[in-house]
Amino acid sequence: MNFQEQPSDILATLGKLRDADAPTHGGRVLSYVYDSGVAELDELAASAIRMVQPVNGLDPTTFTSVAVMEREVVAFARDLLNGDDDVVGSVTTGGTESCLLAVKTARDNWPGEGKPRLLAPVTVHAAFHKSAHYFGLELDLVPVLSDGVVDADVMIERMGPDVALVVVSAPSYPHAAIDPIAKIADAAHEQGIDCHVDACIGGWVLPFWGDLEPWDFRVHGVTSMSADLHKFGYAPKGISVLLTRGRDRQRAQYFATTRWPGYPVVNPTMLGSKSAGALAAGWAITRALGRDGLAELAASCARSTAFLIELIDFIEGLRVVGSPVGPLLAIATDENVPEDRRVDPHHWADQVRSLGWLLQLQPGLSQSFGVTLPHTTHITVTPVTEGVMAGLAEALMAAASDVRGVPPVSTEDALASLPEGLADTLGETHDSETALRVLVDVGLVSMDGSGLPEKMAPFLALITALPAPVTERLLTELIARTFE
Ligand SMILES: *Cc1c(COP(=O)(O)O)cnc(C)c1O
Repeated sequence: MNFQEQPSDILATLGKLRDADAPTHGGRVLSYVYDSGVAELDELAASAIRMVQPVNGLDPTTFTSVAVMEREVVAFARDLLNGDDDVVGSVTTGGTESCLLAVKTARDNWPGEGKPRLLAPVTVHAAFHKSAHYFGLELDLVPVLSDGVVDADVMIERMGPDVALVVVSAPSYPHAAIDPIAKIADAAHEQGIDCHVDACIGGWVLPFWGDLEPWDFRVHGVTSMSADLHKFGYAPKGISVLLTRGRDRQRAQYFATTRWPGYPVVNPTMLGSKSAGALAAGWAITRALGRDGLAELAASCARSTAFLIELIDFIEGLRVVGSPVGPLLAIATDENVPEDRRVDPHHWADQVRSLGWLLQLQPGLSQSFGVTLPHTTHITVTPVTEGVMAGLAEALMAAASDVRGVPPVSTEDALASLPEGLADTLGETHDSETALRVLVDVGLVSMDGSGLPEKMAPFLALITALPAPVTERLLTELIARTFE
């Protein structure tokens, strides 16, 4: 074969593209990536992926390795989450797919008529917004308290025969808050309502997180759980587990049809043909680490998280939101100090970024009743964090000193930054050309196609200031144009 381009050149190009990415290793990016810091695990995962590269995960009877690996990964997860013989599961391509399938399964098992409701705290992962949207459920979000934890009684009051699924988190992504799972799940159980525990981020680390109230299948009312191996299972992206209590309940997850002139289709998950790569990698990593290895890595995360919580408490003007359970935390302004001593978490994150560390900005949220959730900055801690803690701590403190007293970008300022007249027309931004023009006017997209601005704080303020449908449309345009 005469290639039009030599493999070595192609890989050199890819290398250059990868160099422009945020660093996936070394602990400088404190979200998105979950770096065990164990180089052998990356090597093992790469080799495992390579070995199954040509396999089609569509058919576990033809490619039997897929069935064996999936069985073993599910068994490991079930054991970790204290499921008994009645708990069955599937490997999915990620947290979102696990959540989607949990919702679809509950919807299909729901005995009612009409449009069912999905009941969850406002802190539930956006994947459930997507699930409700895709599968036609009404999303009923319950406000949380200022520590990010939902009041069980308020959740229970809202339960009813039209609820197909109650979702709680262990812990929630925005604040690492663990919902009162036992109380909510048991109340749901009494009313015959299914209850999903979203342990996408916590599932592979909370089993080693000291003494917690039961939050997994030890709670009878818990009917399904999601737990991502591509987070604290340290697998490459593309693998999560969805566990379901009861074979009969779980079978509604499947799609099967023989009503076409091709092969009979039986899909436990959303995809048809699929890679076995992430499965093989996740399988290999769980075998290499076992419970002890996971526990050891979790202990490192726990030490780093405890240190960071103390550090934030020590930094004047910042505070940790609530009591995080697990290796993640949200940081807000400490309103108990005078205004000129406060640190805005978004200015702070921008400043930390200029020092070479990437934190994740989270918008505030005004709830339908109760407290308004402040805007925060999110940190996910991983095992590599411990080795870079000195540098990180220095950057976090220095950045706080740099921006202490700088007021947050106000709603008025954010809107005032818009070009004249734009705010009024934004509500009608539906076509792609208008949306692009707005993005350029706002300064989020430059005509030469360069990326996001250096400072994210004004951007986040604008997101909060504009009506959600408007920002959602604009962000869609932003990402679509990024790909074009
Ligand atoms: C990450 C996450 C998800 C979604 O998972 P993806 O793997 O990003 O699709 C769902 N719930 C929680 C709590 C998460 O942290």
